[in-house]
Amino acid sequence: MLHYSCDLCGQKTKDNRFVVRLEVYPSFDPEAITEADLEQDNLEEISELLAEMDLTGELHLDDCEPRTYRYDLCEDCCREYRKDPLALHRPRRMRFSEN
Ligand SMILES: [Zn+2]
Repeated sequence: MLHYSCDLCGQKTKDNRFVVRLEVYPSFDPEAITEADLEQDNLEEISELLAEMDLTGELHLDDCEPRTYRYDLCEDCCREYRKDPLALHRPRRMRFSEN
């Protein structure tokens, strides 16, 4: 039998193991460029967009790839995770503290 450990606290999970799956993907489809998009009218817009990307460096090709994350959590960590999945309301240093 496989043994899992909690990805948050590191403890071995027993019977109660919870799986968190996260999927991150752009809200636009980078492959959904049609021929209409490539028409002359849009070339300027596209090149502006590309120039902007060069400047900011914020949109790399990798960022367009959907990514899936999978985590195993113990019962305690899952309970905490459900309250605040993105840890928006938790100070950083509190994240791994024990209650
Ligand atoms: Zn845990």
